Amino acid sequence: MPQAGRGAAPPGQQAWSAPADGGAAPGAHLLRPPPVPLRAPEPPKAPPHDGLPRRQLMVAGYVLEYSLRRSTRHSIGFMIDDDGLRVTAPKRVSIAEIDNAIRAKQNWILSKLEERRERRAARLRKPPVEWVDGTSLPYLGGELKLRLYTATRNRSDYNPDTRELHMGLVQGATETLLKERVKSWMRQQAEGLFQQRLDLYAARLGVQYSGFALSSAGTRWGSCTVQRVIRLNWKLIHFSLPLIDYVVAHELAHILEMNHSPRFWAQVGRIYPAYEEAKALLRRRAQELPVLFG
Ligand SMILES: [Zn+2]
Repeated sequence: MPQAGRGAAPPGQQAWSAPADGGAAPGAHLLRPPPVPLRAPEPPKAPPHDGLPRRQLMVAGYVLEYSLRRSTRHSIGFMIDDDGLRVTAPKRVSIAEIDNAIRAKQNWILSKLEERRERRAARLRKPPVEWVDGTSLPYLGGELKLRLYTATRNRSDYNPDTRELHMGLVQGATETLLKERVKSWMRQQAEGLFQQRLDLYAARLGVQYSGFALSSAGTRWGSCTVQRVIRLNWKLIHFSLPLIDYVVAHELAHILEMNHSPRFWAQVGRIYPAYEEAKALLRRRAQELPVLFG
């Protein structure tokens, strides 16, 4: 599928964009009343940098900055994510030719960049999650309620009926520690669930993957290497099972087709017929995620 945003994945890996968490949580009390004063939250991390050379170009009165990756592909590819415009071009193509290709698509590029900026701004305007007893966190397409209590040792118990995650915190626990605990609990759930779904869909598709690992890359939901190793972003655990299954089916289909050709989508469709809807919904849900772990 010649879709923008799909063009710049390195050979052997297919990827698409997800927004990274951004911003910092406010200094909030973990428990009401707080057992101890809390340390100030850490400053937000710098945006991810891909290390690629960045170039600038005047386009329609704007200075357009883009990163350039050289590849063995046969055409110039454009991809837009929260880091801006990324261009992938064959080695033999000159900078002048690349700049011309950008100018030829400038309206599309500028409107996509503007769309991204607006969405990002809207996401950052949302109040960040308050790390207190009773707070709601996105989990499997719904919300779980975080219940905090003081305990002599750290422990976590999830009740799927009430959708409450009870977390015992030792005296003096900081917000940073709480966030780490919740994150690690969510990663654990993600690992178990994704493994199950991979096995299920691999059997349906009739393929075998050689390995599975969680990733936390801010800009990718999943990837599949030529060695058939599948990586899935643990943050998918925030979304409903059908969306998780879509990414699982998508990455497994790459074992058969290492591209996004019609043949690839036909393989996805065999085990996940409603992939078009899922793809669009995943993009929307990702934009709606609140700032969680900063
Ligand atoms: Zn893909």
